[in-house]
Amino acid sequence: TNRPIKRALVSVFHKEGIERLAEAFVAAGTDVVSTGSTAKRLAELGVKVTEVSQVTGFPECLDGRVKTLHPYIHAGILADMTNPDHAKQLEEFGIKPFDLVVVNLYPFADTVRSGASEADVIEKIDIGGPSMVRGAAKNHATVAIVTDPADYALVARRVEDGTGFSLEEREWLAAKAFAHTAAYDATINEWTARHWPKPASIEASESEEERAEETAEADAKFPKQFTRTWDKQHILRYGENSHQQAALYVDPLDQTGFAHAEQLGGKPMSYNNYVDADAAWRTVWDLAPAIAVAVVKHNNPCGLAIGATAAEAHRKAHACDPVSAYGGVIACNSTVTLDMANSVRPIFTEVIVAPDYEPEALELLQTKKKNLRILKVAEPPKGHEAIRQIDGGLLVQDTDLIDASGDDPNAWRLVSGEPADADTLRDLVFAWRAIRCVKSNAILIAHDQATVGIGMGQVNRVDSCHLAVERANTLADGQDRATGAVAASDAFFPFADGAEVLINAGVKAIVQPGGSIRDEEVIEAAKKAGVTMYLTGIRHFFH
Ligand code: 5GP
Repeated sequence: TNRPIKRALVSVFHKEGIERLAEAFVAAGTDVVSTGSTAKRLAELGVKVTEVSQVTGFPECLDGRVKTLHPYIHAGILADMTNPDHAKQLEEFGIKPFDLVVVNLYPFADTVRSGASEADVIEKIDIGGPSMVRGAAKNHATVAIVTDPADYALVARRVEDGTGFSLEEREWLAAKAFAHTAAYDATINEWTARHWPKPASIEASESEEERAEETAEADAKFPKQFTRTWDKQHILRYGENSHQQAALYVDPLDQTGFAHAEQLGGKPMSYNNYVDADAAWRTVWDLAPAIAVAVVKHNNPCGLAIGATAAEAHRKAHACDPVSAYGGVIACNSTVTLDMANSVRPIFTEVIVAPDYEPEALELLQTKKKNLRILKVAEPPKGHEAIRQIDGGLLVQDTDLIDASGDDPNAWRLVSGEPADADTLRDLVFAWRAIRCVKSNAILIAHDQATVGIGMGQVNRVDSCHLAVERANTLADGQDRATGAVAASDAFFPFADGAEVLINAGVKAIVQPGGSIRDEEVIEAAKKAGVTMYLTGIRHFFH
């Protein structure tokens, strides 16, 4: 099934690595057809090359929009030479078939990332390239298609030794080529979907009209096909566990954000490091513009605090649960100071992430904590859609941000006790903003804008309440930190029992969504104890 390569079509935007191909073409005396600047480069390298315009008898035109789009080229690509009828037709038309097509496409994603104008971006939508790639891939029966410069050396050897490629090899190359054009078009779609939303002048379809307004809005937001492309950034040493393989992929249109964190020290990031540090990074920004520090373990905070300085925020966050903070990930939403670096120094920590570091702080961490992965991320996290895979499908939702109307304390409803004084309200607001990042069922006890006890990930709310109180009251020095503190619950209390655990532990105020059919019982328990209770009307489940 091997087909020797006698005639090749080469049209590449990126000319790197083409020398090796040229060398092989020269050695084998291959007949090469090529476009403008590719032809020029190949000729310089000594290849016997024919310009596409000579083959078609038609000049490249419209600023390069039309170069190879011509039957003399495309019939040469698409003729299945194992089919005698195709071979006969080519002969009649005087068209010669290709055995090899080498193409790489206009750099659409690079152009977008460079901040180019819309007109430049549009010009970088390759038309002829994908047509050749798809044509050659479809006709893998007789054509080998090469889109990946990493395959040039392989191609060069097969050109030189005259063997060409077997059918299985051409199929494999075709599969890679379709992946390439699919990703290319998906990237274009990602850009167009962001830039060209549905205009108001397009009437709603009849089926949309039948639906409620909010459904129609969601319908417009979630396209019929969810296409997003991701570029492989690198292979990770392993996944969540050492027997799982893993890789990091990044958005081809946007090379900013946590996935592109600059690493200033320590061992390479692991899969779990990425998960935890990303969670910690998002968490500290929930509390901005205040200076905040989060300590995260297994995707849950074990301490979270606001401070007048980064060092103070870290000391308060660490003090919440010093036992759990061992081997944790620390995120800070402001510059890490020398003072904070000194506070981190004695604590075994896997990763630290911040927007910046004071030079002395960085030096201390780099020299005294050699294993600590030090990450710098310039900009706050983006509120992208959240994607989760399920068997046979994907769930896509807006990312949960602290931006709902119920997150504004002015909208909270006082249902028990006295209105909170300024300090208490400040702690309640902190607790409510902080609970977004705690895995459900989540109960968070806070004092002085710092967590003092967090109950997370339990399958009933009473257990989370017990855990939060226990954590608040199990410091080595036997301090009772629940008394006089405030508490937040990520969702309503289905019964009074959970709230009673907090009330009995001495919390003075509770903020929770409300909305349970037993709200009255819960409110009654708070009233009986004289505990302040606010209802937000919204929840922050995190599964
Ligand atoms: P060159 O640098 O050789 O002048 O052009 C190579 C690039 O042009 C390749 O990226 C190829 O995909 C693209 N290309 C080839 N034919 C056509 C065409 O007919 N129209 C457009 N828009 N691009 C083409």
